[in-house]
Amino acid sequence: MYNSKMYSLGAQGSAIRELYEYGKKRKKEIGEDNVFDFSLGNPSIPSPSIVNETLIDLIKNTDPTKLHGYSSASGDDDVKRSIVEYLNKKYNTDLDYKYIYMSVGAAASLTISLKALIKPSEEVIIIAPYFPEYKVFIENADGIVKVVNSIKPSFTPDFDMLERSINNNTKCIIINSPNNPTGVVYNEEIIKKLCFILEKKQKEYNHNIYLISDEPYRELVYDDINVPFITNYYDNSIICYSFSKSLSLPGERIGYILVNNKCNNKDYIYKSILGSGRSLGFVCAPTLFQYMIPHCLGYTSDINQYKENRDLLYNKLTEYGYEVVKPDGAFYLFVKALSDDSINFSLHARDYELLLVPSDSFGCSGYVRISYCVSLDMIKRALPAFKKLIDDYKEK
Ligand code: PLP
Repeated sequence: MYNSKMYSLGAQGSAIRELYEYGKKRKKEIGEDNVFDFSLGNPSIPSPSIVNETLIDLIKNTDPTKLHGYSSASGDDDVKRSIVEYLNKKYNTDLDYKYIYMSVGAAASLTISLKALIKPSEEVIIIAPYFPEYKVFIENADGIVKVVNSIKPSFTPDFDMLERSINNNTKCIIINSPNNPTGVVYNEEIIKKLCFILEKKQKEYNHNIYLISDEPYRELVYDDINVPFITNYYDNSIICYSFSKSLSLPGERIGYILVNNKCNNKDYIYKSILGSGRSLGFVCAPTLFQYMIPHCLGYTSDINQYKENRDLLYNKLTEYGYEVVKPDGAFYLFVKALSDDSINFSLHARDYELLLVPSDSFGCSGYVRISYCVSLDMIKRALPAFKKLIDDYKEK
């Protein structure tokens, strides 16, 4: 009657979405301002004005049959050229537009790339805590998930475990920096170490191990933090990029896949990406938003507002006694739960109308994620609740 695997995915839903839905219900019951919803990573800062100005201009001045028509399945060549020109200038690379595939956000970029790379039962390494959908995407591509932990409190990969986890069956690894849910950015030393291990293991097993860099938060960093550009460090790399967070456009679904032009078998990989996009029906990303991109490259929403949120929350929660990972990027704060069971802790936080995502669904127990892409005003109003919550535990 139906595909039971898909049914269980749909019936389960995600912990984040479940909390968000609870929040919507709760807001109806007690009023919008009385619920402190830190569940979703939905940007609260508007897109930079260039986005709407460009869209209006495109709507007024472009042939509508072109603007609202299909592009090539992999996207418009001029758009791809502009992306590559921008990246080459910014990161001193020699990338080729022929290896870009325009897609509907990072989720689709990942799904397409994984399906293009993995043969049934090949393994994909992910680093915990990880974006929960990775598991869904890998399993959908008939791959096997292999989890490597992070070292606490830096939340950088456990390299010994990584070395032990790579075997003859390892096809690729997904990394995500700046990271959801920790906000940690992998510095150059970490990236070099990671790439060194991958190179070594490629030689040892005599096959390619691909590095998929999931980068929806690439530009969302604070205090001049540098995010190393992955193709400069590892040849067999594929970037899955999205404009969802940098331009506050998650509902518009636009991003791209970039295969490093130094990648082994790059033409085969790219053709497989074309085939994978085709088989999944992810072709012709929205034309209007493709055309917007060349005008908006290099722009971001006003990150200073996220930084203000981060600083206030980090300083106050630390002052109250919470153990918090200081994020250098993205818009998430990873906070140690006040009891071993983070699901219970998250449920208890609901008593104070605080909606915090338990870390178990990120493959790591004992923490909660606070998504601080919310209004500064809400954070200020939520602070007394955070204080009461920790006082509650101190009294126990
Ligand atoms: N990867 C990570 C780490 C994310 O946090 C998200 C969204 O929150 C995605 C991928 C999916 O991004 P998109 O909305 O561009 O599909």
